[in-house]
Amino acid sequence: MLFAGILGWAGDVYLGPGVSFFTSSVGGGLGWFILGGESVRVQDLPEDGGKDAKFVVDRVSRVKSIIEAIESKKGEVKYLQKRDALSEKRDTIINKIHDETYLNSLTKTTENCATTNKPQRLRQSYSRTLVDKYSSSAALSAASAWMHCVSTSTKTSPSFAIVRPPSHHATKQRGMGGCLINSVATAAFYAMEKYENIGIIDFDAHHGNGIANCVEDERRIRFVSIHEYTKMGGGKRPEYDPRSPDKRDSGPNGNILNVELGKGAGGEEMKEGLNEGLDFLKGCDVLLIAAGFDSHALDVTSNLLLKSSDYKMVGNILRDFGKPLVIGLEGGYTQFLEGENSNSVLSDCLLYFVDGIEGRN
Ligand SMILES: [Zn+2]
Repeated sequence: MLFAGILGWAGDVYLGPGVSFFTSSVGGGLGWFILGGESVRVQDLPEDGGKDAKFVVDRVSRVKSIIEAIESKKGEVKYLQKRDALSEKRDTIINKIHDETYLNSLTKTTENCATTNKPQRLRQSYSRTLVDKYSSSAALSAASAWMHCVSTSTKTSPSFAIVRPPSHHATKQRGMGGCLINSVATAAFYAMEKYENIGIIDFDAHHGNGIANCVEDERRIRFVSIHEYTKMGGGKRPEYDPRSPDKRDSGPNGNILNVELGKGAGGEEMKEGLNEGLDFLKGCDVLLIAAGFDSHALDVTSNLLLKSSDYKMVGNILRDFGKPLVIGLEGGYTQFLEGENSNSVLSDCLLYFVDGIEGRN
């Protein structure tokens, strides 16, 4: 019931025209999903975000560049309707995963943004997370897109949710960075209706602390995060963000594996990390993939040095796991670069990755 408020408000006021839902198989059986109106409507918050603006890296242009690239190289992009068959189930799962006080805080802040028509700092957040009047509905739609990928993905036809905002930093009790609701965890709990053992692998350059926290008590879900290790993230953890990026932190039930990459690590190290991670996930019946592309050498948010073409290797390795693949977009922030190196880097990485998933060498 808790989230009905957000849905009601968002649905009544901001349900945009021209948003429709399709499913299809594109390019070697890959089904695409995208957060139509919602993912592109969350504004470029820095415009009104004051001093917090510089911390906002999730921009509209990220998704737009990917849509253009897919449409020109891979085929049609499909849009997800905001209100869909899984909305009720989604909200039930989200209310179980996230703390009620946090969800209320998200609702209230979003409502304030609608009143003032300005972005605002999310009070119950980790660091300086800005939201606007579209943020909650976009985050909900992202979770829906992930869930639809769980429904439709098969061993021969993976599905990919091209969504924003990202979600892997959202813990039970806090938003963090641009992450508000944990779409990956939502999809994982939903997947338990269809599969016995759920594997999640997160190859975003940053620690999937939120996913780890949200699934740490569920033994049927196993989670691997491959990330750049920084000392800043280790040590004593706050109650609202208990999972460390340290390889020694396997969670209270041992269902978590952290694979640390050092500063300057590239494709070879990522390959080793993926193999170690998939070994940990052996026996899982489905693989959820938190696909972040910010380990690219030109990405300003990490010190990792992957090349665009390395993501084809990443896709190949994940394909070889041989189970249904449910993929969703997390990070990738090369839009701050100048000229031809800007958003094309992110979309190139993603296209290489899809080539790998589709089995092209
Ligand atoms: Zn990241």
